[in-house]
This record gives sequence, structure tokens and C-alpha cells, in this order.
Amino acid sequence: MLKLAASLSRLGTESAFEILARAQALAAQGKDIINLGIGQPDFKTPKHIVEAGIQALRDGHHGYTPANGLPQVREAVAADLQRRHGAKVDPDCVVIVPGGKPTMFFAILMFGEPGAEIMYPNPGFPIYESLIKYSGATPVPIALSEDKDFAFDADTVLSQITPATRLIIINSPANPTGGVTPKAEIDKLVAGLAKHPDVAILSDEIYSQMLYGGREHVSLLNYPEIRDRLIVLDGWSKTYAMTGWRLGYAVWPESLVADVTRLCINDHSCVNASAQFAGLAALTGPQDAVAEMMVAFNQRRSLIVEALNSLPGVRCSDAAGAFYAFPHVGGTGLTSRQAQDLFLNEAGVATISGTSFGAWGEGYVRFSYANSAENIERAIERIRKVL
Ligand code: PLP
Repeated sequence: MLKLAASLSRLGTESAFEILARAQALAAQGKDIINLGIGQPDFKTPKHIVEAGIQALRDGHHGYTPANGLPQVREAVAADLQRRHGAKVDPDCVVIVPGGKPTMFFAILMFGEPGAEIMYPNPGFPIYESLIKYSGATPVPIALSEDKDFAFDADTVLSQITPATRLIIINSPANPTGGVTPKAEIDKLVAGLAKHPDVAILSDEIYSQMLYGGREHVSLLNYPEIRDRLIVLDGWSKTYAMTGWRLGYAVWPESLVADVTRLCINDHSCVNASAQFAGLAALTGPQDAVAEMMVAFNQRRSLIVEALNSLPGVRCSDAAGAFYAFPHVGGTGLTSRQAQDLFLNEAGVATISGTSFGAWGEGYVRFSYANSAENIERAIERIRKVL
């Protein structure tokens, strides 16, 4: 009998990958499956970015790079953050990692241990709760609700701080809800944090370029008063349709750069060199493809929100960001999980139960609209039939 570490049993998962496998298995059996489950753009990585990756390999960039990333890539990230948020970032505080996830892994491992508390959005990206539990810390949910457009409430967050609180995770625009937290709420949170100087903040801004209806992204980088305890996670996966390249970055407080770099050295040494050259081309090249993708996402968002609201027993609020709709399906008499299974098994439409994103997701189902308008329409009509 193998004796595994107890911590392993506390590690959760991201159901999107399991649903993807189930959808692929059904498709392999000849079933026509429409995948509105996985959260990745259905667009290809823009050509000039792919070419830069290929060219890097041709040019002989086959070796290790610095553990924190190539200097020119870190400089390009800093310049991009200045351009997008008007925030001044020292390239030495930027750490390039293989995707968005490693930053949350490292931040949670740095602060989490038995006795510590970490706050996280619920419903939220499932890896937050999974890793907090894995670290031994106590997960403290920040409950998000539809009546607040799935934005966090700063007073609630501040009222949940205890002497054991080490880290607060926020995510706007959010997965799975599409919620965007207004600036007033972020202002209030930052002001309240002045009284808690030993609490760190991880702001997951991976969807920072995906907002609709004239909304603007408010980066936590714009609050100099918390920069000494702020980690901002972002990356290439969503913005540049580069999920499979595994490329992300974070801006770290200067005092934690050496620690996170040590974690990188222990974990992955450095990020694949050609992916970093591709990422450099993404940041420094034309941004037209990003704008075009956003036009398509916006059209699909209107389409899916309206179509979901036309289904019996379903209501869907206006998703302000990312590429997810998060309708309430309670009026159908189904639980979230039953709805997910019915949609996949009977309608051939992969979606994800709201409970996969935490207990506060009960009653909801996540639909990713990173799929064609035609497929979205077909999916909704199939769901209408099974309902
Ligand atoms: N953060 C959020 C909120 C996400 O939704 C995702 C991916 O779905 C990630 C981070 C991870 O991104 P990556 O695929 O780059 O690891």
C-alpha cells in the first residue's frame, strides 16, 4: 500500500478539464457535441505571434532562459502595463511563468499554512480554493451574488479579515460569472486595507482586456499604497488566444521577487524560450487581432444572454466581462449538476455546473461563449428541446 501525503487528498481540481475529456469521449463515439465548457478562445493565435515562436526555434533559442524570464520580455510586460493601465512597473518585479496558474500556486504556497486564512471569491476560479486547502490554510469565501452583478462587496471582504488573514484573492473580470467589480468598490477595499498592513492581495487580472458595454478595467496596480504587498496575475492565454503555449506573468512586490524566483527554479527552471519570444511579439506587435476577437466576443455575448433568457426557467444577467455567461437555472427544477449532465448527455452541449466553482455557485451553470455564433444558437435550441 503506497503511503501518500495527506495534503494530496485536499487538492481539488478544475472540472473544465474533466468535462472537456467527457465531451471528447462522447465526440469520439460519434456524438455531435458543442463545447461551451472550456474557457479558451476558439480563435487561433495570431500569425505574427506563431511566426515569432517558430523563428526563435530557428534562431537557436533552445536553452534555458533566466528563471524569472527573458529581460526583454519583462521589459515589454512593464511597457504594456504602462500603456494599458498607466501604471509604472519595474521590469525586475515582473516574473514570467508557464501560464496564469503558477502565479496563484506560488502566491498561495507562500502565504498558506495551517492556522492561516486566505480569502477567495466564491463562485470563483476553482483552483483558488483547491490550493488554499492543499496548503493547509483555511479557505474563507468571499460570497458573490447576482444581485450585486457578481462584484465583490468591499465591506464584506474587510469585515472577514481576522488576525489569521494572510492573503485576499480577488478576480475582476471574473471567471465563472463574467462579473466586473466597479472602481468605487475597489477604492473602498484599498482604503480599508490601510488598517491591515500585513495582509497581502493577489489580484487575478487575466481577463483585464475583456470587458463590454463601455466598462473599463481597474487594475490594482493603480493603487501605489498597496504595491508593497500586491501580486497582479496576468498573461497571454486569453488575450492572445495562447492557452496552449503556457505563458503568463505577474508583477510581484520587490520584497517577494527573490522568493518567487526560487519557487520558479525549484518548479520549472524557466519558461520555454520560444514561447517567450512569441509572447514578446504579442506585446510589441499589432493589437488588431485582440480588437477583432473582442468584437466577436461582444456579439456572441449579446446573443447568448438573450437566448438564455428565452429558455423556460432560466434567467441570465448581463455578463460584463471575460467570455462567460452564468445563468440561473433553478426555475427548471434542476440542480446545477443535473442541468450540466442533462445538457451534455441529452442535448450534446458541454457546460459546467456552477458548483464546480464553489458552493455559492449552486443554481447556476457556466456557459463559455468562446464558440461560434452558429454553435451558440444550435446549443441553445438543443437545450430548449430537452428542457
Ligand atoms: N485565472 C482565471 C480567473 C482563469 O479563468 C484562468 C483560466 O481559465 C487562469 C487564471 C489560468 O490561466 P492559464 O491557462 O494561463 O493558466
